[in-house]
Amino acid sequence: MPTNKIDAKQLRVDLLAQLRRDHTTMCRKWFEDIEVLGISNGAVVILLQEEVQLKYLERCCKKQFVEASQTITGHLLGVQFVDSRESFVSNNKTSFVDRSGDDTYGDMLISPDYSFNNFIVGPGNQLAHAASIAVAKKPGQAYNPLFIHGGVGLGKTHLLQAICQTAMHSNASMKIYYVSCNGFMTQFLESVQAGEMTEFRYKFRAFDMLIIDDIHDLSNREQTQEEFFHTFNTLFQSGKQVVISSDAPPNEIPHIEDRLISRFSCGLVAGIDPPRFETRVAIIKKKAMLREIDMPEDVSNYVAARLDRNIRQLEGAMTKLQGLSLIDGSPIDMAMAKAAISSGSGRNSRAKRLSIQDILDAISVFYDVKLSDLLSKRRNKSITMPRQVGMWLARQHTVFSLEEIGGYFGGRDHTTVMHAIKMINDKKASNQQLDQDLIRLQNQLAGEEEGQE
Ligand code: ADP
Ligand code: MG
Repeated sequence: MPTNKIDAKQLRVDLLAQLRRDHTTMCRKWFEDIEVLGISNGAVVILLQEEVQLKYLERCCKKQFVEASQTITGHLLGVQFVDSRESFVSNNKTSFVDRSGDDTYGDMLISPDYSFNNFIVGPGNQLAHAASIAVAKKPGQAYNPLFIHGGVGLGKTHLLQAICQTAMHSNASMKIYYVSCNGFMTQFLESVQAGEMTEFRYKFRAFDMLIIDDIHDLSNREQTQEEFFHTFNTLFQSGKQVVISSDAPPNEIPHIEDRLISRFSCGLVAGIDPPRFETRVAIIKKKAMLREIDMPEDVSNYVAARLDRNIRQLEGAMTKLQGLSLIDGSPIDMAMAKAAISSGSGRNSRAKRLSIQDILDAISVFYDVKLSDLLSKRRNKSITMPRQVGMWLARQHTVFSLEEIGGYFGGRDHTTVMHAIKMINDKKASNQQLDQDLIRLQNQLAGEEEGQE
């Protein structure tokens, strides 16, 4: 097949079909937006109007696109993503837009999936969502800083990236930067080593909006804290918007300077709580649509009822179902859902089949404390101790990681869980009452475990 006579429309159809076949879980509904302009200089030229989409495909999906292009055409082709029709000239002379100039933003990666449109609002995230919209629309004016906190997988990154996308859309000249705290730290340390602190400061202090994800990673990083403090002040004092996320509210992030805590708290602090059933169902439906997965109503409800801690769990189950349906060559149904969920919640041995929910329920009854208190940030002794016992039991009797356990117990980080386990281990040696309580709780849980399935 002569590559210059290729039918671009057909190539697009074939390419999408090929990707859906070979890289099912990577594909998204918005892939429909791609346009194939043709083949030029040995590459399939693909047009994407949206910068965010273009960058995302370039960074995360290039290999798969190349592979699919080669499979379809039988030629050793590359793939070139472009953002304007003009960059493709059909007489085989291609002048690509030079993107190397804007390397301030070169390292910023935003997922097109994480938009406000794709975010489901429920009681647990209402405030964080409303505040995010306000900030995206009126940077520097609504709330500054905006501090969003919540457990793992509850939508912090999604909201932060949605702010970024919306603000970029409504104001193309605004300098907006989204970065993880670790990304900030790496850039900082590299700049120190390279003796390029002036450039670093110039870069970070020139933004109109700085969005920084997972700020709890600053914990124990004194040098980076110091630098971030100054970055923050410079931006804040000149009315620039700062948005921050964390797995805990400002005053509960361990090992962080007081002056930072007070800066973080001076705007709006909004927490995200785990989603309720209705919200979970709505999220599953939204994700199914984005990923083009056929999820029957009863399956959505089943998954939402079974997995209730965070949304990554839901997504994991959906990916698994998608995979099973591919292997079987049959549509997703209840039987598949039951098989996927009972074997896939991370319980892989007979001895470790308890769920953290079982443990939470047992603790709540045993110590007569409310579930909501166990998951809350409250630190009274009457709650702290049962909570620590819960974490200890979760570590002994489930396969969840410290991080996951922290997530279940109201979005605490792994150091908190580690501390809890140490406390209980230390205390149970000398405290007979505690030792007996633990035995009773474990017997009780063992009974429940036998009763299962
Ligand atoms: P976090 O940063 O808090 O750990 P993420 O923002 O990464 O969590 O969210 C985990 C996944 O759950 C993402 O795929 C995200 O799109 C999805 N998600 C979280 N909250 C919502 C929501 N309210 N509506 C739709 N999807 C959500
Ligand atoms: Mg995140």
